[in-house]
Amino acid sequence: MKIYNTLSRRKEEFIPLEPGKVKMYVCGPTVYNLIHIGNARPMVIFDTVRRYFEYKGYEVNFVSNFTDVDDKIIKKAVEEGVESEVISQRYIAECKKDMEALNVRPATKHPLATEEIPGMLQMIQTLIEKGHAYAAKDGTVYFRVKSFKEYGKLSHKNLDELQSGFRELKVTGEEGKEDPNDFVLWKPKKEGEPYWESLWCQGRPGWHIECSVMAKRYLGDQIDIHAGGEDLIFPHHENEIAQSEAANDKPFATYWMHNGFLTIDSQKMSKSLNNFFTVREIADKYDLQVLRFFMLSAHYRSPLNFGADLMEASKNGLERILTAMDRLRGLEEKKRAEVKASAKEETSALLNQEEVLAAETLKELVGKFEAAMEDDFNTADAVSALFEMVKLANVSAKEDGTLTFIHEIREAIDRLCQILGILTARKAEVLDEEVEALIAQRQAARKNKDFAQADAIRAQLLTMGIVLEDTREGVKWKRA
Ligand code: AMP
Ligand code: ZN
Repeated sequence: MKIYNTLSRRKEEFIPLEPGKVKMYVCGPTVYNLIHIGNARPMVIFDTVRRYFEYKGYEVNFVSNFTDVDDKIIKKAVEEGVESEVISQRYIAECKKDMEALNVRPATKHPLATEEIPGMLQMIQTLIEKGHAYAAKDGTVYFRVKSFKEYGKLSHKNLDELQSGFRELKVTGEEGKEDPNDFVLWKPKKEGEPYWESLWCQGRPGWHIECSVMAKRYLGDQIDIHAGGEDLIFPHHENEIAQSEAANDKPFATYWMHNGFLTIDSQKMSKSLNNFFTVREIADKYDLQVLRFFMLSAHYRSPLNFGADLMEASKNGLERILTAMDRLRGLEEKKRAEVKASAKEETSALLNQEEVLAAETLKELVGKFEAAMEDDFNTADAVSALFEMVKLANVSAKEDGTLTFIHEIREAIDRLCQILGILTARKAEVLDEEVEALIAQRQAARKNKDFAQADAIRAQLLTMGIVLEDTREGVKWKRA
């Protein structure tokens, strides 16, 4: 299996640290808002990577954090007049709903920054003892970048270049830095902010330290794969490497994987440019399976431009798969009944001549799918192989065919769709009464000011493919 490693800038053969096991860490979102579809890209991609490893028989330990202490969270908490925790808990819950609707499996562990402070204090202390970090007068602790000789190896930046770039830059409040490249490990609290006691000051951690500490705690000093969007290469991942390798004296991650940006009009989708769609907004228009399928239609390292044309194409592609699967399941059921009635099981096991050839082609296509996935997870080519398989099923699975063949091709398509995280069964038809009963429950919850319950019901309806709209005339609903 080959993986493109940002560290070496080439594709490398995947060799796990421990045979049969994959230790994988993916940087998760900062939780102060609903996630946008750019944030969903790494979730879908690395969930698919995980699924493929599992298909190959690996045991995957998959850790992904939620950053729940951050300036943006604090700002939102102040605006709403609530504790930061209220904000982070709310958006973690919302994020989990979106993940579920995208069929992104929960990680083995989703650590929260606020629950890992003791580990962070310990790693910072180790770094100070080893001369890799220092506390300034005001209690801020900085990582001493010059002490880590390999700084820049991931982003392929040269420290001298960085230095000259920073020369003109004077950041207020960071006068205690020995060097402009040094970065914050711990910083003093400001009025009204959440804080923790430490040896240096009452304060809170910098962003980078949490991932080094969580990876160490849940996966160990050395991990196989560390992943995230390409905007994280510098400085976040570069700093993680510096912290972890300086503290643990071991190489941190063997492979560094980075997804390209989801763009809109060729610009990165981001909160700051205000050119984003939340996953929730897309769910109002499409089944989120379509969004997942859209993301897999491109190679994960390429930029992917979001637009109605490609989404429609993905919707149609998905529909083609579902239609073929409906037919195969129907045929299979019918054949099973026939075999049962005739009690001639042996003959049904023998493929007819045409099926023998089709079964050969099927095997080749499974091989093609796997080869694509093993070439740095080329899901675009894997999806093409899947479509060829659907075409094959449409022509070679016949009314007068055998149960054996129909079963085999149906199972093959199901298995590959499962790797891609694509559900092949249509959602059960939801009855109007069922929807209306849930809406009534939601209205009651709102009346009692139980907004969490009201939101939970809205999300439940969403997973059933029902979209709500609060209008002046009351609540309206439609099928997505
Ligand atoms: P953030 O909450 O900004 O730290 O982002 C969470 C994850 O989403 C990180 O892995 C980012 O690299 C990734 N990400 C953010 N915006 C985009 C985008 N437009 N396209 C792809 N990935 C993104
Ligand atoms: Zn991280």
